[in-house]
Amino acid sequence: MTDTEIPAKTAVLIAGGGPVGLALACELGHRGVDCLLVEKRDGSITLPRMSAVSARNMEFCRRWGIADEVRNAIWPPSHPGDFIYVDNLRGTELARIKKPTLAEWGKLDYTPEGGCQCPQIYFDPILARHAASLASVKLRYLVRLDGFEQDEGGVRAQITDVAAEAQHTIAARYLVGCDGPAGVVRKALGIGLGGRGVLARSVNIFFRSAELAALHDKGWGRIYRLVDRTGCWAELIAIDGRELWRLTVFDDVAAAEAPAAALARVAGTGFPHTILSLSTWERRDFVAERYGEGRVLIAGDAAHECSPTGGLGMHTGLEEAMNLAWKLGAMVEGWGGAHLVDTYEMERRPIAMRNVAIATRTFGAIRSIPGTGTGPADWRGDLGRMAPTEGSEQEKMDYAYDGSPICVPDAADGARASRPHGAGTAALPRATRPGACAPHAWLADGRSTLDLFGKGFTLLRFGAPAPGAAALAAAAQTRGVPFTEVAIADEAVAARYGTRLVLVRPDGHVAWRGDGIGDAAAIIDRVRGAAAPSAQDQRRPLGATAEV
Ligand SMILES: Cc1cc2nc3c(=O)[nH]c(=O)nc-3n(C[C@H](O)[C@H](O)[C@H](O)COP(=O)(O)OP(=O)(O)OC[C@H]3O[C@@H](n4cnc5c(N)ncnc54)[C@H](O)[C@@H]3O)c2cc1C
Repeated sequence: MTDTEIPAKTAVLIAGGGPVGLALACELGHRGVDCLLVEKRDGSITLPRMSAVSARNMEFCRRWGIADEVRNAIWPPSHPGDFIYVDNLRGTELARIKKPTLAEWGKLDYTPEGGCQCPQIYFDPILARHAASLASVKLRYLVRLDGFEQDEGGVRAQITDVAAEAQHTIAARYLVGCDGPAGVVRKALGIGLGGRGVLARSVNIFFRSAELAALHDKGWGRIYRLVDRTGCWAELIAIDGRELWRLTVFDDVAAAEAPAAALARVAGTGFPHTILSLSTWERRDFVAERYGEGRVLIAGDAAHECSPTGGLGMHTGLEEAMNLAWKLGAMVEGWGGAHLVDTYEMERRPIAMRNVAIATRTFGAIRSIPGTGTGPADWRGDLGRMAPTEGSEQEKMDYAYDGSPICVPDAADGARASRPHGAGTAALPRATRPGACAPHAWLADGRSTLDLFGKGFTLLRFGAPAPGAAALAAAAQTRGVPFTEVAIADEAVAARYGTRLVLVRPDGHVAWRGDGIGDAAAIIDRVRGAAAPSAQDQRRPLGATAEV
C-alpha cells in the first residue's frame, strides 16, 4: 500500500489530526495496534494556539522517545519562562512570577520531565513525524470523515478523499472523533454540551517582529500580561523566543479591526511587524455530556473546550488519548473485558470537568485584576500575590481515577475513594492510591520508575527479598493480559510507593496495591474491565467531580 492509498478496513479509525488525534495514533502505534488517522486539512498549521506542553504530556513524549526533540524544538534554553505583568512593555513592571529556564530545571522530584514551551506549529509536526514512523499507523491528510453507522460488530465510516474527490467506505472496529469542537462525530452521536458556554470573544494576532524584544527592558519571559486603566486586557506570548509572537486580546473583537493599534498599545509605541494571521474566536467552557456511544468515542476539544489560561486544553486531551489507547488496544487484542471501554468516560469526564473549571477560574482571576490607578496604594505589591499561578504542574499531575470500577480500592479505602479529588493529598503528590498516576522515582540505573510502564500491566515488587506474585502472573497469563514484573530493592523507591506490591496499568495509573495477593483472578478480571461495575461502584461518584 502506498502512503496515499486509503485502506478498506482498520482496527481504529481516528478522525482529526490535531495534537490529540496524533497522540492517539502515537500511543496505538507504540502498542502495535493498527490504526488509520484521517485529517481533512493538509496538515500545515498557520496559528500556534497551544504553546505550553505540560509535564504530564512530556512524560508521554518521553514514552514515545520524542521528549528531547520537543524540549529542544525552539525555545532557547537560557530564556526564563516568567509571567510578567506590565502596563505596557516600555512602561512599568507590575509583577513577575519567576519560572526557571530550561537549563535551570535540573532533576525534579515529582516527574522525570519538566513542562516546556513547544508551540503547536512545532509540536504537531513532531507528533506527526513520529506517528508516521510507526509500522501500524497510517496518516492520511486531505481526507475527511463525512459520517458513519455502527452496530455490535463494528463501524462503517464514509470518508472523502478531498484531493481525488473520491468517496470511500472504511470498516473499523472503533472510531474516535478527535475532530475538535466543530467536528462531525459528537454531533452525529447527538451528544450535547454542558458548561458555562461562551466566556469571552477573543482575538489572536500572530505576528513576526525581530525588533520587539529589543524595544523594552523587561527581558525574555513566556507570557507578558497587559494591565492598564481598563484592567488586564491581553497577553503577549513569546512563541519562539526570537521573533514570533502571539497577542491574545481577551474580550474585544474590535482589536481585529485595528491590529496595529493593539500592538502599539502592548509596546507603548508602534514598531515594525508583519502580521502572519489574525483570528477571532470564542473562549468557551464546555464539557460533552457523554464521551461516546458503543464503538464510537470522542476525545480532546471534541469532548471539552476550556479557556487557554493555565494550559489545560491539550494537556487534558493527551491524557484522554493515553487512557483510551490501551483500552482500545486491549479490545482489539482480545484481552479487554466487556466493560473496559465504558470506563473511558467514567474516568476521564470528571477530570475534564475539573480542568475546565480550573481554566475558567484562572481566566476570571486574570480578568478581575483591577485597572491601574483604580486600586489601593499597595496595589502593585499585591498583584504578584493576586496573579493566578496558572495551575501549577504539580496540580495538573495530581489527578486520580478515584472510584473507577477498574481500579481495586484498598481494603480500608471506602472513605478515601469517596473523598473529593485531591483532598488531603497535597503532601503526597502522586501517591500510589489506586487510580492515581504511579509516582516517579529515580532508579539506580538512571531510569525513572515511569520508564518501566508501557504496553501491558507492570507489577512492581518491593523489598529484599521482594514478595512473590506467581498467582497474579498466572491469572494474567491465563487471560492473555500482557504482564511484566519488576523487583525493586531500593528502599527510597519502596518508601515512595508505600506497599510491597503495586500493579500499574499500561497508562501508568495504579490499578491495585497491597502487601500480599488475595484473589488473583478477581484482581486481574477487575483491572481488565471483565467484572461488571458493582452497584456500589455505580453509586459512588468519581472523586474528581469535586468542586475546585
Ligand atoms: C489561544 C489558545 C492557546 C492555547 N494554549 C494551550 C497551551 O498552552 N497548552 C495546552 O495544553 N492547550 C492549549 N490550548 C488548547 C489546545 O490548543 C487544544 O486543546 C488542542 O489544540 C485540541 O486538540 P485537538 O486535537 O483535540 O483538536 P484540534 O486541534 O481542534 O484538531 C482537530 C482536527 O480535526 C480536524 N477535523 C475536523 N473535522 C474533521 C473531519 N470531518 N474529518 C477529518 N478531520 C477533521 C481539523 O481539521 C483539526 O485538524 C490553547 C488554545 C487556544 C485557543
